[in-house]
Amino acid sequence: MIKSRHDLCLAVVLGLLCAWSSNGIAAEDNEWHVGLSRVVITPDQPVWLSGYSSRDRLPHGKVHDLFAKALAFESKASGTRFVLVTCDLGSIYQELTDNIAKAVFQRWKLPPSNLIINVSHTHCAPEIARERLVFHELTPQEDQKLVDYIEHQLQPKLIQVIGRSLQDLKPATLHIGQASTEFGRSRRFPSADGRVVNRRYDAGVTENDVPVMKIVSPTGQIRGILFGYACHNTTLAFYKFCGDYAGFAQEDVERDNPGTIAMFIMGCGGDQNPYPRHGPQGLQYARQHGRELATAVQRALRGNMTKIHGPLHVAADTVWLNLEPLPPVGQLQQEAASESGMPQRKARYLLDELKNHGKIDLRQSCPLAVARFGNELLLIALSGETVVDYSLRSKIDFAGKHMTWVAGYNNDVFAYLPSRRVLIEGGYEGRMGIIHQLTPTPFQLDVEKTVMDGLRRLVEKVSSAD
Ligand SMILES: [Zn+2]
Repeated sequence: MIKSRHDLCLAVVLGLLCAWSSNGIAAEDNEWHVGLSRVVITPDQPVWLSGYSSRDRLPHGKVHDLFAKALAFESKASGTRFVLVTCDLGSIYQELTDNIAKAVFQRWKLPPSNLIINVSHTHCAPEIARERLVFHELTPQEDQKLVDYIEHQLQPKLIQVIGRSLQDLKPATLHIGQASTEFGRSRRFPSADGRVVNRRYDAGVTENDVPVMKIVSPTGQIRGILFGYACHNTTLAFYKFCGDYAGFAQEDVERDNPGTIAMFIMGCGGDQNPYPRHGPQGLQYARQHGRELATAVQRALRGNMTKIHGPLHVAADTVWLNLEPLPPVGQLQQEAASESGMPQRKARYLLDELKNHGKIDLRQSCPLAVARFGNELLLIALSGETVVDYSLRSKIDFAGKHMTWVAGYNNDVFAYLPSRRVLIEGGYEGRMGIIHQLTPTPFQLDVEKTVMDGLRRLVEKVSSAD
């Protein structure tokens, strides 16, 4: 009981002492420890570039370096650690993610479920996607150069950057906000003959949100800025290493906020393109989009940001997506015997699989992860080239007091991941794109239900975990 003014002063002083920990940091500001790290992943020699099957030669030089950046979180309330890696890469695949996660677990005891590797899907990065043998007509020598890059440069560097972010864990506060910018548009144009073709469609389904997180040191210095956008990094179609608009946006955000590490996380931009794009002014467009995105990030930083409290809970699982039956073997043999082209290479791949394994599993694994940051943020991470419907639907299905941040292109970019709508409409992201993937056949109509049911189970798990 406080009886006198002296007692009151003592109580205030004791209260303040309790609110501050021994290292001079307010207890509320000691809820999170955060680590940041970056590494250059530009290949040390020219290797085949990703993304366009029309590529016919090696790149010459770079516009700027490609990076992998790691952001490690540790919630003091739950003791949970979680690492997000963002990469200026076109793709990532399960085996590579598994190798990295295994090494990280062995060295730093981070559970594999608490690691997400996101790629920006820039098409001006080394072609590391496993489907490159179907997608490109690569010589064995060129393929070996990519294998060497993955094994001797990329994989060790990704393990290293994760380790450094974990070793960098120190007190920080987390804040989130959101802005928007409009250069990303639907690329699913409904043509007069009923087909969906790959062209700008301003009336199409799109999402222009720019979610932003800032990581601030106890002295007020912004250490890191994570920002997202749901749009293909395909402004460029030339032969130089470059991060496309996301690479320029990261450079600009770092220039606007000296001393920070800026990280781009790809959203569900599987059916969204940046416009304008390509052509002789492509590089100028990429810089322009990067500037627009960085300006949106600055708007979010200047706006009312919400401080994130703990605890952190993470859940991950893999759902299995049903695929259509294989074409008859006779049809595959006919296609395999044709002169050249992607149907021929895909048919040969499927026939080889049948020969080597006796059957083909007509399911596609689809890893999913959810991280709940207190009551303020729900981060949802899907795999595949996720179309925008998954972000829009997640924001409705999992709406609450928190902000919902949805990322695509995580851990295993196996193929386009269409929604039911996109699958029914058809077009490149619906059915046609599968021709150059190792995923044997197009998805069945229950694809969206299976993914959303999987996400719902994870959201329920992290929501009831306090
Ligand atoms: Zn793509």
